[in-house]
Amino acid sequence: KNTIDQIAAGEVVERPSSVVKELVENAMDAGAKAITVEIQGGGIDLIRITDNGSGIERSEVKKAFLRHATSKLSNIGDLFSLKTLGFRGEALSSISAIAQVEMVTKTADSLTGIRYTVNGGQEGELEEVGAPNGTTIIVRNLFYNTPARKKFLKSPRTEGSYVADLIEHLAMDNPDVSFHFINNKDDRFHTSGNGDLKELIYRIYGRDVSMALVPIKCETDGIQLEGYLGEPTLNRSNRGFENFFVNGRYIKDRMISLAIEEGYKQYLMQHKFPFCVLHIVMDPDLIDVNVHPSKMEVKFQNQHTLFEFIRINVEQVLKSHEM
Ligand code: ADP
Ligand code: MG
Repeated sequence: KNTIDQIAAGEVVERPSSVVKELVENAMDAGAKAITVEIQGGGIDLIRITDNGSGIERSEVKKAFLRHATSKLSNIGDLFSLKTLGFRGEALSSISAIAQVEMVTKTADSLTGIRYTVNGGQEGELEEVGAPNGTTIIVRNLFYNTPARKKFLKSPRTEGSYVADLIEHLAMDNPDVSFHFINNKDDRFHTSGNGDLKELIYRIYGRDVSMALVPIKCETDGIQLEGYLGEPTLNRSNRGFENFFVNGRYIKDRMISLAIEEGYKQYLMQHKFPFCVLHIVMDPDLIDVNVHPSKMEVKFQNQHTLFEFIRINVEQVLKSHEM
């Protein structure tokens, strides 16, 4: 069992950020409205995720760590239409095969919480403990028993920055959930979960950014575009500040990047890139999704229309803001 789980772990768990992604998605699936993510040593030494979601019933705790155990019914096609994110039932079994995992969980109906540990696939006993409603998962010493995998990790600093990027995107993707991110005891940001995108950007990127945001909101047949464009004073030296979401999912897409940059053309100096947070909402049938546990690629059937729609509107909004 352990070997199979370790191999499966290769699919799900590439680095600390992939662990964090799975666990935060679980928290959101459980209806959490507040999620705290804490990492130490880039997440290699420790990842602690606390949520105020449903918690897990005592009788379900061990099952949750079994391979292909999922309480969620969905399929890949649901990804762009449904809110249920998890669909494989492999995250907990995979993560606990290659790390030391401790879970404390309590449902609203039970009087006490349950503590359970699985170290490198070795299951411990269920223990009753006092706990608030919700779930805390601690993942220690990632890849401690698979040194060949550990070798592929980058420095703790770099791995930590991947986790930070991920949490920023998840927070922007879910304005109704409060995210608290702590990196090596350093309080990085805490979003309110009140749904306000502008406040969210302010909380994540700081005061200077929110002072220079230009709202954009437009629609053409079947495509909606909404969000904030950074004023040209906010231009950055890499694409890392171009944030876009399609039907609520963060994606990277070269075509969308180029469309935005083209819209900014007259304001962009060489080797500079815009800051933006854009939500695109469109018919899921017009998007082909290629899903891999660690990334998401999409292909738009109406590429050209989408490109022009984004380019023209970005250009116009920036121009009218100038006047
Ligand atoms: P999946 O999310 O695909 O179902 P996972 O291995 O990620 O598979 O999780 C297994 C199960 O454990 C979930 O289906 C869910 O029932 C339970 N679970 C995991 N994390 C949480 C959480 N934070 N809160 C409540 N239930 C959870
Ligand atoms: Mg899951």
